[in-house]
Amino acid sequence: MIAQEDIRKFETFSTPFYYYDLSLLRKTLDVLKKAVDKYGYNVHYAVKANANPRILQVISSYGFGADCVSGNEVSKAIECGFPASKVVFAGVGKSDPEIINALNHDIFCFNCESIQELEVINEIAGKMGKTANVALRLNPGIDAHTNKCINTGLADSKFGIDFNKMEEVVKIALGLKNIKLKGLHFHIGSQILDPEPYRLLCLRSNEMQEKLAKMGVELPEINLGGGIGVDYYKPDENPIPDFDTFIESIHSNLVVKPGQHVHFEFGRAVVGQCGTMVSRVLYIKPASQTNFAIVDAGFTDLIRPALYGSYHKIENLTSQSSETLSYDVVGPICESTDVFDKGIKLPETKRGDLLAFRTAGAYGEIMASQYNLRKLPNVYYSDNQ
Ligand SMILES: *Cc1c(COP(=O)(O)O)cnc(C)c1O
Repeated sequence: MIAQEDIRKFETFSTPFYYYDLSLLRKTLDVLKKAVDKYGYNVHYAVKANANPRILQVISSYGFGADCVSGNEVSKAIECGFPASKVVFAGVGKSDPEIINALNHDIFCFNCESIQELEVINEIAGKMGKTANVALRLNPGIDAHTNKCINTGLADSKFGIDFNKMEEVVKIALGLKNIKLKGLHFHIGSQILDPEPYRLLCLRSNEMQEKLAKMGVELPEINLGGGIGVDYYKPDENPIPDFDTFIESIHSNLVVKPGQHVHFEFGRAVVGQCGTMVSRVLYIKPASQTNFAIVDAGFTDLIRPALYGSYHKIENLTSQSSETLSYDVVGPICESTDVFDKGIKLPETKRGDLLAFRTAGAYGEIMASQYNLRKLPNVYYSDNQ
């Protein structure tokens, strides 16, 4: 529930805006830290989920590292307090300037996805007189049973190196003199609510470790990526993901040899619930089956419903009406996909009412665009700073 005092505050803010509950963010980080510290696991926050500087500062203050997917994310993470020695850099398409930037910062590790990428990093590192630490991103061929748009561990996905070609790639990597092969990396997808895909992932990691052991190779770093999901349907009942269940399952299935370190890259699970997008109703347009509630936010402010068909719980923060009606909540953008939800029940809604789009902390503000020359959404924080 969004507290009445927050709603009174929202009335004074200009819409549309993102509101971040930094105390919920801290509670989430406390729970995560406790769950991973128990086994000495390392977390690199996935910056792409939300790169708001205040959010990054809170997360970096917990001593976590950062998982970056662009050169700008690498620079921004370091600016916002993440030590370069805990920054990992992933992505299928790292450009030369991005590689140079990461090498200049002496980041912890590149997560590499192809032989050609290894060769390019080796060449650039050589020219710079540096050695690049590298983990190989493996495609484990696991179905994370999540939305097809965010399922990344299947064999036909563009991500990672084919599981069966891995030994060949390891041999090549070991032969490159400006590269130090440090580990294995995986990322099977996002919004995963069941520990089972992680159990399968652990088995794949164990299997690969055995294959490598036969080649006489032992790598110190095992990075299992991110992907733990959040409850978009019941944000008030489940404000903090059940990290313990996932971490316990991983602990009981993953083989970790002495001297090996385990890493994760959680994004959505860290920031999803602390953010709410708030928009004002501009017009109500009755139609035959429903009523259109036309709001002042569009997919330029929160694109997940239009991009992936994702659900965000919508609440009317203003209406005191006991009568509920059916609404299609739509934005002002000149595209027919600019729809947040259809046929939802809301208390009678009027022009000027505030609507909250819950669980918008991950892949929300960061995906905002200026299409239609719109202003980017405003941002406010629970501590008023
Ligand atoms: C997106 C991404 C993550 C974070 O995923 P979440 O589902 O937000 O936890 C982690 N690692 C890599 C390589 C990614 O691309």
